[in-house]
Amino acid sequence: MASLGSAAGQPEIEIYFDGIERRTVFAEVRDLLDDWRHAAREDGGLPRRDRFARHIAGPGGVNLMLLNAENGDFRFDVVGDQVSALFGHDPTGRLLGDMPYPSAHAYMPRYKYCIETGAPTFTVQRKVSFGVPGASERLLLPLRQENGNAGMLVYVRSRADNYDLIRAVFNASQHGILVVSAMRDRLGAVADFEITAVNSSAAALFGGDPGDLVGKGLKSLLPLADLERVWPDLHASLETGVTRVYEALEASGARGGVYRISSARVGDGLAITISDLTQLQKTMQTLETQHASLVKVNAELRSEVARRRRLEAELKQLAETDPLTGIANRRRFIQSMTDCLDGADETAAQSALILFDIDDFKAVNDRYGHPAGDSVLREIARIVSGHFGDDAVFGRLGGEEFGVFLPEAPGEHGCRIAETLRRIIAGTVHGDPGRPIKVTASFGVTTIQPPCEVETLVALADEALYAAKWQGRNRVEYNCAVAHAHGTEAG
Ligand code: GH3
Ligand code: MG
Ligand code: MG
Repeated sequence: MASLGSAAGQPEIEIYFDGIERRTVFAEVRDLLDDWRHAAREDGGLPRRDRFARHIAGPGGVNLMLLNAENGDFRFDVVGDQVSALFGHDPTGRLLGDMPYPSAHAYMPRYKYCIETGAPTFTVQRKVSFGVPGASERLLLPLRQENGNAGMLVYVRSRADNYDLIRAVFNASQHGILVVSAMRDRLGAVADFEITAVNSSAAALFGGDPGDLVGKGLKSLLPLADLERVWPDLHASLETGVTRVYEALEASGARGGVYRISSARVGDGLAITISDLTQLQKTMQTLETQHASLVKVNAELRSEVARRRRLEAELKQLAETDPLTGIANRRRFIQSMTDCLDGADETAAQSALILFDIDDFKAVNDRYGHPAGDSVLREIARIVSGHFGDDAVFGRLGGEEFGVFLPEAPGEHGCRIAETLRRIIAGTVHGDPGRPIKVTASFGVTTIQPPCEVETLVALADEALYAAKWQGRNRVEYNCAVAHAHGTEAG
């Protein structure tokens, strides 16, 4: 920035010869500057005035004026409407030196300097009117008139539009904004901050009118306890110029609540933004509580589901287990056989079914009593269970009748197993030593090549069992279903 002939009482004007693109708030300034440089290159020095006829006649012409250099002064040749409005009158045809206000004279040396150097000049004139700071921009572009004399194209525009915009944003913000300036003591230490501007959101936070708050000290506004917490941050951002954000500050002020405060340096003061997070925090707490209770309900549901699954499994077990012996009941026995045979085809191994029925069991009950009969049934179930592993299905089909299904038992393997079982049962002594009980059982065996129906298998084994009873009991009879299936005679 340079200062040319700035005298007391004259407006403050900042002057720039470079970095103009950065300093302007209007895009047209950059465009004009580009066009001027382009024209200067083509015309080899100051561009000809007619190069800018298009700009003057166009919509942007309202912010332009053309001045002709004339005997050490400048005559207003063309003045755009917005420029006249800014000046408060239309100076077209008059000399700059005849203008009655100080800013006109302030610009005189600058215009002259611009012509002398033949380089664009950018100025920002700051002023305060009615207590509101404002500024206007000027871009001075030296030219050459048709008659060879120097001239100047000047872009003039108030930055008020820009200030209006900032003011509108300031006032419309839902965040509270305070602009404060440092109140320093004789030693330069910050004693307090004076409020110079406050928007309505901030005024609402402090429960006052924006007009009442301006001019007050920040200390009088914030209870001391709150200020003590933010003071070091306010100080730091004022001294370092670094914007600070203090997360979720709990204020105990009149309203109480949670606030996020940020402060940014402006001149020898700060712009303080206050966001009220109280509602947000309440909502978050509600959500957290809801979440926790949902988690609890979810856990309860899970354990209820697990409990029901357990019950279901217990019920299934009960429905499929013979309560007296604890082995598979008829239902599960038939189902297990079905499952085995359903998955089997012609290539599967032959299966065998052994059915056995305790002989003259009615007599056992009659002689030793029903409970003794029960324990005989339990004992036989235990012994037979122990005889097989996972390779066999064993079940109580009803009363004193049992079944053993062997999924892989080719040829007469089933008969051999049945014979073994027959001998074990016949050789076992039940009851008390003083009152021994001995029983025998009759066996019916069949072998079949899958696929086949379970009913067929049971019917064939049943036939053999019946034959064993008929032929005197305590024996094994074989009904060869494989031979049946191939049309040969039963064995
Ligand atoms: P068979 O040699 O012809 O099979 O003669 P059996 O007496 O064994 O046959 P029957 O069908 O005439 O009688 C079966 C007996 O089995 C009658 C019944 O009281 C007895 N029984 C059936 N279920 C149970 C039970 O759960 N416990 C006891 N203790 N006895 C049972
Ligand atoms: Mg019997
Ligand atoms: Mg029976």
